[in-house]
Amino acid sequence: SIPVAEDKPEDLEDRPPIITVMGHVDHGKTSLLDYIRKAKIADGEAGGITQHIGAYSVDVDGKRLTFLDTPGHEAFTAMRARGAQVTDVAIIIVAADDDVMPQTKEAISHAQAAGVPMVFAINKIDKPGANPDKIKEQLSTMNLLVEEWGGKYQAQEISAKHGKNIDELLEKVMLEADLLELKANPNKNAIGTVLESSLDKGKGYVTNMLVEGGTLKVGDIILAGKHTGRVRAMLNEKGRNMKAVPPSSPVSIIGINGAPSAGDKFYVMDDEREARNIATRREQLYREQGLRTQKH
Ligand code: GDP
Repeated sequence: SIPVAEDKPEDLEDRPPIITVMGHVDHGKTSLLDYIRKAKIADGEAGGITQHIGAYSVDVDGKRLTFLDTPGHEAFTAMRARGAQVTDVAIIIVAADDDVMPQTKEAISHAQAAGVPMVFAINKIDKPGANPDKIKEQLSTMNLLVEEWGGKYQAQEISAKHGKNIDELLEKVMLEADLLELKANPNKNAIGTVLESSLDKGKGYVTNMLVEGGTLKVGDIILAGKHTGRVRAMLNEKGRNMKAVPPSSPVSIIGINGAPSAGDKFYVMDDEREARNIATRREQLYREQGLRTQKH
C-alpha cells in the first residue's frame, strides 16, 4: 500500500459526515435518497438538474451532509469486502407496514461490525397498515432499544414518499454525526475511495469518487487501484465544473486510464512515473492472483 503521512492535529478541520441508507428491498431507500436530493440539493439552484455520481452533499441548517446514493447495501457490502469503510453514520430504514426483515438484520450487523452508529428511519407511516411500534418492539428484541423507550438508538417515523418528518430525521443524523467530531486535513494530496466507474463513449473513462482527505485538483496525478491518470475535468453532483474538491465530497472525474473497482482507494501522487509503476505492479499481481483463484 501507499505510505500516507499521518495528519498533525493542528492540520485537521471539521468535515461533513458521510451517510449510507440501508435496509430491506422495497422499504424505501431509493425514495428517501430521492426525496432528500430533490428537497435539498436544488435549493437556490437554477434548474436544479442533478447528476448521479454515486453520492451527493446537501446543506441542512448551514451544515453539510454527504449521502452515498448507491441504494441497497450491495455497494456497501462490496466496498467493505475490499476493506473500504467510507460511512460515518448509517440510516437503517424499515417499512412500518412490514417487519424487521433479513436484509434489515444484515444491514444492522454490517453497521455494528463496522462500528458505524445507526439511526432508524421507520418509513411508510402514511400507510393504513403502518405499525411503527411493532418495528420498535422487534428492534428491542435485537437489543436495539429506541430512545423514546429509554434506549440509546435514535429513531424517526417518516414517510419518504410524502417527505414527512425528513427534517427531523436529518437532525437526528446530524446529532449522531456531531458526536463523532469528524475531521480531515484539507491541505494535502487528496485520498479517497472509488464509488463507481464506467466507460462513456464521448468522455472516456468516468470515475465517481469520494474525496476523504486532502483537496483534489484538476491536473492532479491519480493512482486508483491498478489505474492511473491525470485529472482532466471534475464535475460535482450539480453538474458544475470544479477546480478543487475538499474532504467528504463526491466528484466525477475524467482522466483515469481505466475503470477502477468500487471500493478501490485512490491517491494523488507527486510523481507520475511512480504512480504508473505501482499500477503496473498491481496489474501483474492481480493477474497472478486471478490465475491462482480462477476468479477473474
Ligand atoms: P427500496 O427498494 O428500498 O429502494 O424501496 P423504494 O424506495 O424503491 O420503495 C419501494 C416502494 O415503496 C415504492 O413503490 C415506493 O413508492 C414505496 N414507498 C417508499 N416510501 C414510501 C412511503 O413513505 N409511503 C408509501 N406509501 N410508499 C412508499
